[in-house]
Amino acid sequence: MSEILRVENLVQQFKLDKGLLDKIHMEKGRLVVRGRVVQAVNGVSFSVEKGEAFGLVGESGCGKSTTARTIIGLNKPTSGKMYFDGQDMTAMDRGERHALHKQMQMIFQDPYASLNPRMTVLRIVVEPILFHKLAKDRKEAEEKAYALLERVGIRPELAVRYPHQFSGGQRQRIGIARALAVNPQFIIADEPVSALDVSIQAQILNLMMDLKDEFHLSYLFIAHDLSVVRHICSRLAVMYLGRIVEMGTREQIFDSPAHPYTQLLLAVAPKLTGSSIESYEIPDKEMPTVLDLPKGCAFCNRCKHATAKCAEILPETKDLGGGHMVACHLYDEKGREAAV
Ligand code: SF4
Repeated sequence: MSEILRVENLVQQFKLDKGLLDKIHMEKGRLVVRGRVVQAVNGVSFSVEKGEAFGLVGESGCGKSTTARTIIGLNKPTSGKMYFDGQDMTAMDRGERHALHKQMQMIFQDPYASLNPRMTVLRIVVEPILFHKLAKDRKEAEEKAYALLERVGIRPELAVRYPHQFSGGQRQRIGIARALAVNPQFIIADEPVSALDVSIQAQILNLMMDLKDEFHLSYLFIAHDLSVVRHICSRLAVMYLGRIVEMGTREQIFDSPAHPYTQLLLAVAPKLTGSSIESYEIPDKEMPTVLDLPKGCAFCNRCKHATAKCAEILPETKDLGGGHMVACHLYDEKGREAAV
């Protein structure tokens, strides 16, 4: 297998304060002028192989969706590199980026918000085919759209209806058909089932797995729910406050989680994941925010293993072998458990 996507040291920051008055704050009894910056993504690196489903997991606000939006081009990265099929996306001009959009599509959490309510479902799928000139005329585009809708489980006679006339699960099927309409190689699925009932979630996940093989797709799958990722992804990365804290195969992450945060995620969802690891007590302390990250490990005040070193020094990523990586002082540079 070869890589379809490589992300290297991606940083995404957003300035909150625009004018001078916004930047004036009171700190320790003194007025200071300092713009506030949201550090949403802080040096994220990973790669996705062709034909692979790779998961990015973490709680709300950990930076996983911002990472996805930056890769798809909705945000300009503050720094870092992104390569698609070997091409440097950060060096592309508008025309090249536009051509790339055909290869890389996104499926959103809320399909209703992403579907134009004034268009029939048929037109929603036909328009991107025509826009990217993938059919010689409208008739051919409509034939392709009907075939795609039928493949995702929407009967042809329903194609003249509007998005509000469908259920949440059906709308996500339409969103998938629209994404497939331009023959993409790579799909970014941002929490695609989190708004759906559990019974419908399984149907959509099974459909996505079938389509992955049938259309030779690769997925970047964003989720907060470990049971969803376990179902669909062969490798995954766990994010916490803008950083990847652990990465590995499904078996490494679910059977031998190394980072205390991964252990926490598994412990709080034992019924969903079937994990047998012991429960994890969360210290009753406030989480840091992406506006004011600590200089050491960001998980420090929730971690039962934290030491003074953890509060002072940002842990580097250690290689535990077999592609299993962890950023935690519990492990030394050779990946062995260390005394902290
Ligand atoms: Fe816990 Fe320290 Fe590891 Fe952070 S570096 S997860 S605080 S042991």
